[in-house]
Amino acid sequence: MIFEIQEQVDLTPYNSFGVSQMAAYFADIQDPADLRQAREFAASKRLSVLVLGQGSNTLFINDYPGLVLYMNNQGKQMLPGAGMLRICAGESWHELVLFCLQNSLYGIENLALIPGTVGAAPVQNIGAYGVELDQFFVELEAFDLKTGEIRYMNKADCQFAYRDSIFKQNPGQKLVVLSVTLQLALEPALELGYAGLTDEIAEQEATPQSVFDAVCAIRSRKLPDPKQIGNAGSFFKNPVVSRSKLLSLRKSYPELPAWDTADADLVKVSAAWLLDQKGWKGRRRGGAAVHEDHALVLVNRDNASGEDVVLLAQEMSSSVLQSFGIALQTEVRII
Ligand SMILES: Cc1cc2nc3c(=O)[nH]c(=O)nc-3n(C[C@H](O)[C@H](O)[C@H](O)COP(=O)(O)OP(=O)(O)OC[C@H]3O[C@@H](n4cnc5c(N)ncnc54)[C@H](O)[C@@H]3O)c2cc1C
Repeated sequence: MIFEIQEQVDLTPYNSFGVSQMAAYFADIQDPADLRQAREFAASKRLSVLVLGQGSNTLFINDYPGLVLYMNNQGKQMLPGAGMLRICAGESWHELVLFCLQNSLYGIENLALIPGTVGAAPVQNIGAYGVELDQFFVELEAFDLKTGEIRYMNKADCQFAYRDSIFKQNPGQKLVVLSVTLQLALEPALELGYAGLTDEIAEQEATPQSVFDAVCAIRSRKLPDPKQIGNAGSFFKNPVVSRSKLLSLRKSYPELPAWDTADADLVKVSAAWLLDQKGWKGRRRGGAAVHEDHALVLVNRDNASGEDVVLLAQEMSSSVLQSFGIALQTEVRII
């Protein structure tokens, strides 16, 4: 296919909120070699560059005046070494989980049905039901938009943390992930720590397939499908606070859910619970609303603009700050 840069492209199909904004320039990257040309084009016109997967963690509040690189390179390759698989950035994450299950490669079943691409998975170190991407991550290949060079990055280079990595900060945002190499298990390695998961599996035998099915069933019940109603999953991260802050909050709110982190002095508290106490479920601002069943999920109820969603999010986080002294951080990238 001949490489082409399009002008004035409507981004509605490229973001799961379904907000309507335009990109001044847009390139569908099916072959990573085209990134060199795209980089030269952006430099010649002094354009900013935005890397985009399926836009399921991105909210546009304005037209994008630069060049959008839509990562759409496909392919998977087994590498020498048991369970080592290299996957191109444009592959669908959920299709990868399914492929692994069908080919007896285990470990990522708990991450089923997370929307988006493989290339975006390391950006926020995707996680769900007690499993995070970094547990299986070996290395990635990236194109550096600053230097035009290819870089290979291991786990330490990526600085993975809770919904975070080097790719969320500058200069990491100049790196375009081209492929990701994972080390999958050859024997089932089940993670059943999440209470809802064991309840869902109930009487069945716990196998990678039953875990996959249970995760899909819970997610389909709990989370709105972006194809039906625009959303980006959890809008806020669970805040990390000091253990002493938790103890003082629990004097007034003994039932506040919290989880340990790798740092003994820090705990993660439930953003959904905090928002729920403030009665946010179902509330609307303009075309944007909080999901009726899930206080963390903002939805595009009626032709919302990105601005509607952000104003609602700001009101929500102010109410939490005022009542609990906790500043919520967004998980979604606002452009
Ligand atoms: C219904 C729903 C449920 C969700 N549930 C979860 C969940 O359980 N756990 C979870 O962690 N997330 C969840 N998410 C968020 C989202 O699915 C993930 O963040 C996913 O990894 C985003 O992939 P994407 O391709 O859509 O990324 P995009 O939204 O396109 O991009 C996200 C960020 O990654 C960057 N990026 C994308 N591709 C590349 C690349 N190739 N190289 C460099 N940077 C890149 C973008 O610049 C942007 O900063 C959910 C979202 C929805 C809509």
